[in-house]
Amino acid sequence: MIAEVIVDIVHNEVDRIFDYICDDNVSVGMRVTVPFARGTATGFVIKLKPESDVPASKLKAVLRVEQGAPALKKECLDLAFKLSARYLCPKALVLRLFLPAEMRRGAVRESYRTSVKLLDPEAVFSPRAKRQEEIVAFLKDNGGEADAAFLRERFGTSPLESLTTKGIVRMEKKRVMRGPYLGLSKEPKEKPDLTAAQARAVDLIEGTDKTVALLFGVTGSGKTEVYLRLIESQLKRGKTAIFLVPEISLTPQMLSQLRARFGEAAAILHSGLSAGERFDEWQRLQSGAAKIAIGARSAVFAPLENVGLIVIDEEHDPSYISERAPRYNTFDVAYFRARYNHCKLVLGSATPSVETFRRAELGEFELVRLQERINLRPMPEVTIVDMRREIKRGNPSPFSGLLRDKLEAVLREGNQAILFLNRRGYSRTVLCRDCGYVAKCEHCDVTLTYHSDENCLKCHYCGAKYKMLSACPSCGGTQIRYAGVGTQRVERELHSLFPTARILRMDNDTTSGKEGHFKILKEFSSRNADILIGTQMVAKGHDFPFVTLVGILDADMSLHFPDYRSGERTFQLITQVAGRSGRAQARGEVVLQTFDPENYILRFAADYDYMGFYRYEIGMRQGTAFPPFAKIVRVLVSGEDEKKTLDVLRELYENLKQLYTENTDSFLFFNRMHAPVKRIADRFRYQILMRLSGGELLSKIYPICDGVAHKDVFIEVEEDPSNLN
Ligand code: ADP
Ligand code: ZN
Repeated sequence: MIAEVIVDIVHNEVDRIFDYICDDNVSVGMRVTVPFARGTATGFVIKLKPESDVPASKLKAVLRVEQGAPALKKECLDLAFKLSARYLCPKALVLRLFLPAEMRRGAVRESYRTSVKLLDPEAVFSPRAKRQEEIVAFLKDNGGEADAAFLRERFGTSPLESLTTKGIVRMEKKRVMRGPYLGLSKEPKEKPDLTAAQARAVDLIEGTDKTVALLFGVTGSGKTEVYLRLIESQLKRGKTAIFLVPEISLTPQMLSQLRARFGEAAAILHSGLSAGERFDEWQRLQSGAAKIAIGARSAVFAPLENVGLIVIDEEHDPSYISERAPRYNTFDVAYFRARYNHCKLVLGSATPSVETFRRAELGEFELVRLQERINLRPMPEVTIVDMRREIKRGNPSPFSGLLRDKLEAVLREGNQAILFLNRRGYSRTVLCRDCGYVAKCEHCDVTLTYHSDENCLKCHYCGAKYKMLSACPSCGGTQIRYAGVGTQRVERELHSLFPTARILRMDNDTTSGKEGHFKILKEFSSRNADILIGTQMVAKGHDFPFVTLVGILDADMSLHFPDYRSGERTFQLITQVAGRSGRAQARGEVVLQTFDPENYILRFAADYDYMGFYRYEIGMRQGTAFPPFAKIVRVLVSGEDEKKTLDVLRELYENLKQLYTENTDSFLFFNRMHAPVKRIADRFRYQILMRLSGGELLSKIYPICDGVAHKDVFIEVEEDPSNLN
């Protein structure tokens, strides 16, 4: 037999298939060690065939099959090849997505403990063997089995040994599963009756012929219960499910709901787990012991077979697009798996991405709505505060007068508040503090970014340069500053305003470590704090019944991010943060502070008017030819040797230019330039930017980029990138 092997070395020159002679104990998907170059390497068998085109004299044999390393399933191999072709990425790198690092390296092992099993419950003891008798009695009371270490500690080592020798008990080695978040309650919870709207949603999703359904429901409309019912009905049919959530911080909450409903059938996969936990959870899925994989983006690669449902909750979340190679979009992977398994893919959101909603509107996805909150609880009331006026009134602090008054009331009444800081776009946008003016590109309607090395403003989408402003072109004011304040400053000022308030801060500095988010959220929800200050992390999905006030300190900051999606992101963020208020009985309130109170996006968000927002935004996208009406492609070329990098860039540019010349009608923009950040981690960065009228040329662009591969220079292709830097 001949095995086709992909060697687990990520390098362009070895990104092909190698043939090896093998025995018939080798099967597809297995991990093997093979002779490679002058040493050995491990790899995956992707195919078996009777003979090879390679001359027999040059063929080498597989050295061994790796024990304990699980095999990749057929679906995973097929998917890996699709992704490798789609995203121009070495197959070895894509295959790694399917096997967590712990598995590949073999550094993590199963964990075992010794268990004592009672064999002879009727054993009689002499009065001197009191300890032995006690052990047997204890075992009888505990189902005939107990942990050896525990028994030794409680009753001593020698009586246990005597019992073993006499054959009254037996020692057994038992696999221990290291379960994450074991502290979570596993109490089965009462299953609520579905509301009429929820029942209709379940029927619509199960009944549609379309692969993808968009569950569009306001926050608190009970989407989760719909997912749970859909999963339940698949499990009943013997199928499995994948449930994706955007953030690590959100996972434990979802997991506890899934655990409450499905018990040990739910397994969790994410990067915040210890290697041992991830290893065990992964194996529970692979072996079929667990049927539901829940986790962030990477859980879409869960080793499940017979998938009956895939859910992407909060589908609009940017974390679903990988920013590392392979830069896959979770939707693409989920869609492939759904098609492969003939199952449904459900996208859920209160604020669907503009692209997704359009596809639903055009009939490509089934649109399913949940229009009302459970129990018809009203959405919290949003008050917009003009921060320009606060500055004119001599209040330079991050808190408006209104917000201060409301915070005081919350503290007096013993409720809780969340203060949200919009850190995205915090650093390099400049803003006029007198009138709120922000400079935009004349060609792209995208916010400009300040570059201190050249003291100028740049557009990241077309490369246009503008002089740094000395006075505001709109009002003549000279208070032109970087926008935004940091969480630490907010915390300090809050302390001096309310010295007795208990304050928690949640940002990248305070959430490091495993379960870091979880701990802070748990403290807040146990009411060990009155005010939670946080960045984007606090925006998502948490249910805090005692929060009656949400303050959005700088609502417009994300509007000024140099990104064509900045309006959309702002709308989504505000809607989500606002949804944290008034989850229980008390009516919630939201104070939204901005330098741009007339802004459409903020107005739509304050009115919870998604459709108004969508129509406005889709009109803008059409007018300026941005996605979904165009496709933006950036080819990033980077390398430590600037000359080599430039050589690759030039060659790539010439080849792409040919495509451009043959298809000028399809190109709205085509040029090469420095990347906005010219050097990162010692790598010089250049880019070719393209804006295409559609996505048809992508299948030509990828191979062109593949053709110019050079050893020490990276070529990365990004589609519709959000964050150009
Ligand atoms: P969403 O995910 O749409 O934001 P949730 O799933 O968090 O909404 O639901 C909001 C609240 O309503 C939760 O506290 C949930 O337990 C409750 N809930 C959901 N469905 C029902 C139902 N059918 N009956 C009673 N309460 C429900
Ligand atoms: Zn521009």
